[in-house]
Amino acid sequence: MEVPVIGQGTWMIEGSRSKELGAIEALRAGIDLGLTHIDTAEMYGGGRAEELVREAIRGRREEIFLVGKVLPSNASYEGTLRACDRSLARLGTDYLDLYLLHWESSYPIGETMRAMERLIDDARIRSAGVSNFDVAQVQAAQAALRNHPLAANQVLYHLRERGIERRLIPYCQECGIAVVAYTPFGREAFPRSDSSGGRVLGDVARRNGRTVRQVILNFLTRLPDLFTIPKAANIEHMRENAGGSGWTLSPEDIAAIGRAFPAPDRDAPLAML
Ligand code: NAP
Repeated sequence: MEVPVIGQGTWMIEGSRSKELGAIEALRAGIDLGLTHIDTAEMYGGGRAEELVREAIRGRREEIFLVGKVLPSNASYEGTLRACDRSLARLGTDYLDLYLLHWESSYPIGETMRAMERLIDDARIRSAGVSNFDVAQVQAAQAALRNHPLAANQVLYHLRERGIERRLIPYCQECGIAVVAYTPFGREAFPRSDSSGGRVLGDVARRNGRTVRQVILNFLTRLPDLFTIPKAANIEHMRENAGGSGWTLSPEDIAAIGRAFPAPDRDAPLAML
């Protein structure tokens, strides 16, 4: 299945009914704009985000690349199978396109991955992956899988958190594992327009006839096998984000952004929210 490089996050879309209806409308608008990669998790709103995704994708399941995540505390063999079934029920579907272990669990990785393989064999999920895993953890997950490849690793990646460019991205690319960038706008770390980095982004955006956020999304997906999943509960935000792909930053613009937001020059533990 073709997966668009820019998808949609769903963390914190739940709340008052009017907030939820706005989020559903934004998700639907995103799908219309081609942002058919939808990321959710049993953790989000204690399952409520999955119920809202169900409303958003009703009648359009086949268009969607739907991603769910099992909580580490549920990630025993039996627990993973049960968590997946609960998510499928809340999502109103009989399969997920990708199912991730949300972060490292105290259950042995072999147990979780064995459950993932069982879910693939039962057609309850189409592929299996992990989230917040560094290289050694990815290797352990790969080694635990017997019959199916590890499809993806979802990790924190934004302009001020570029540590994964040192070892994790190259390793995943070598193995054909998709890297999915979460929190692409960096939350509190989003560059202010009057900062030096913000001014560089503004210049690049003007040169390309794009917005700063579109430049950021394009930069984060500039390499093969890199995806990102911004969350937007506002339709205008969604439209803007959809314009982050389908064009290419020049090497000069990439270099300018790289100088303004340098990648670290030494290895550090994987950053996560
Ligand atoms: P994010 O996508 O970087 O930022 C979301 C925030 O940016 C929201 O406040 C949103 O506002 C705003 N925004 C989005 N587009 C905008 C635009 N064009 N203009 C202005 N503001 C805009 O942060 P995130 O939600 O942390 O990360 C994205 C997704 O990644 C999550 O929703 C979740 O699915 C996933 N995630 C995974 C993990 C993990 O451990 N695997 C951890 C964190 C996140 P509005 O909502 O008002 O539009």
